[in-house]
Amino acid sequence: METTASKTDLRDLSINELEQFILSLGEKKFRARQIYKWLYQKRVDDFEQMSNMSKHVRQQLSACCSIQKPEPKYILESKYGDAVKFGFAFNNTSYIIESVLLFDDKRRTACVSSQIGCALGCSFCETAKLGFIRNLTQQEILAQLIGINDYLCSKSDKLVTNVVFMGMGEALSNFANFRKALEVIMHEDGFNLGGRRITVSTAGVIPSIERLINENLNVGLAISLNAWNDKLRDEVMPINKKYNIAQLVKIAKRYFEKTGRRVTFEYVVIDGITNTPGAKKSLSKLLSGFPCKINLIPLNTAGDIKENTVSEDKVLQFSQELHKLGLAATVRKSRGRDIMGACGQLTAYDATTV
Ligand code: SF4
Repeated sequence: METTASKTDLRDLSINELEQFILSLGEKKFRARQIYKWLYQKRVDDFEQMSNMSKHVRQQLSACCSIQKPEPKYILESKYGDAVKFGFAFNNTSYIIESVLLFDDKRRTACVSSQIGCALGCSFCETAKLGFIRNLTQQEILAQLIGINDYLCSKSDKLVTNVVFMGMGEALSNFANFRKALEVIMHEDGFNLGGRRITVSTAGVIPSIERLINENLNVGLAISLNAWNDKLRDEVMPINKKYNIAQLVKIAKRYFEKTGRRVTFEYVVIDGITNTPGAKKSLSKLLSGFPCKINLIPLNTAGDIKENTVSEDKVLQFSQELHKLGLAATVRKSRGRDIMGACGQLTAYDATTV
């Protein structure tokens, strides 16, 4: 449980922990659900705004609790109107953490970060260059959603409709905090978003995928594949030396069998490397014969990653060729490139340099 100057930060508590905490103050259990609504639906940061609480409860809460509500340090809006990047500052770190809001028809999707940096070292990813700094806490993950909803509400009365764990870091390597944040995102008094509106992306942390299956969370699963054989994947995604392609395909099949949800294989198109003629045949052999999707992502430039980018036409052609081989291939529209907010471009900045 996180505390600030010996005060309990309410956004670090699960609903059960908050209920126990409220009971320990001598209050009724239902107050916990009321407080959850104030924290996540009305997004207040002052106990005095909790108008359905008695003065006594408000005083008790402000004496021993805090509510952290970080303001974004910067907000960058794409000139194309389909993406907004946020930089959030948190206590206990000088790093600013990035998240992105993506607009697509009626969807408003928050792409949130789960770690500062990442330990997995994928070759095409800007975040990887930071190395692993630390896991984000439950409340730091949730604060990104609160900040994004604040932004949306400052423009209209709309809220985030979908959440994807595809920002900085590997969410499934921070399973405990990811899981706690997920509970709040799905709770009817929290963000109230069902599993169909949530997707977690993973480089392939198989034990955590097993946990997702066993907990029956019914969230969408996207596995970053990005290569058509183990030799190449070892180079592009070093985690492959631990969990290889055959193991990923096997767990994807199990995920579908147990949850009824088709797994998406994300596939960064690195020109001349991941879209060769051999790639098409191998992908067809690996992924045909069971329900799954392959989502092609054109390589985005990031930092010193400037080579092997690919034209949209070439990615489209690659997807059509995969289609002919029987694969459900789609092309991800890259949003937010002009604000360095597209796939593989997020990073963290030291706040003292921004
Ligand atoms: S692509 Fe994802 S898993 Fe790989 S280094 Fe980047 S953040 Fe980590």
